[in-house]
Amino acid sequence: MSLNILVASGKGGTGKTVFSSSLALELSKIMDVVAVDADVDTPNLHLMLGARFEEKEEVYLEKAFAKENAEGCNCPFGAIKRIGNKWVVDQSLCEGCGFCEEFCDGYYLRKIASGYVAVGRTRYGFPIVSGFLNPGFSGSGEIVDKTIKKAMNFGENLIIDAAAGIGCPVISAFKYVDVVIFVLEPTKQSKLAFQRMKKLAEHFEVPWHVVLNKYNLNPRIRFPRVIARIPHSYKVISAVSELIPPSELDTKFRDVVLRTIDLLISSK
Ligand code: SF4
Repeated sequence: MSLNILVASGKGGTGKTVFSSSLALELSKIMDVVAVDADVDTPNLHLMLGARFEEKEEVYLEKAFAKENAEGCNCPFGAIKRIGNKWVVDQSLCEGCGFCEEFCDGYYLRKIASGYVAVGRTRYGFPIVSGFLNPGFSGSGEIVDKTIKKAMNFGENLIIDAAAGIGCPVISAFKYVDVVIFVLEPTKQSKLAFQRMKKLAEHFEVPWHVVLNKYNLNPRIRFPRVIARIPHSYKVISAVSELIPPSELDTKFRDVVLRTIDLLISSK
């Protein structure tokens, strides 16, 4: 049975993608894995893993458009506005619910590409599936859903790099995971983000653990269920700037990743 691991943080900049890349790399040495980038607003796992994409599938959303003769319409999302003497649809607010097409004159729905899912191989040989949201579009949850479903077709263990925050793209990913690793840093901002993420994990009844990054920079801030602590290291910074998973260059970092893998496998 495959294991789907979500790597999340609740906020950006804690080292989530850096940890995900090393987790995928080290796990790929002992079992079949697929790296999944579900951070569709700012996907960059493919950069760390040196991906070459071979296939691309567009993801479409329905959006409303106003005709020349469109009249006012009580859009439940406030997307229909009057500009001068014309009624127009603000695409960034339109949720594609279809109300205007059904009940008001002069509106129609059309499918437009909101992003895409790309499939390829990393420089290490294992597959990667990444979701990309087109700039200015909504519907990130839909792209995450399609990205993870596509990755599940491989029938292998998934390492899913989540988006920051607790919104739609993160909730979409939670549906498919067996365990969550929260990559946190010893700051008050990270603690606040963690408290919000923890509620999400508890809501979905997904077991979670904490990996504490740069723990030695502020030992006064503590977290529960810490399974591994990563010390601050200039080797990690060098690896990241060279777009290499740090477990390749830093033995302490690799030890943390291997300890995390041991725990995940033993609790499977
Ligand atoms: S499809 Fe729904 S959300 Fe979009 S403009 Fe029409 S009523 Fe508003």
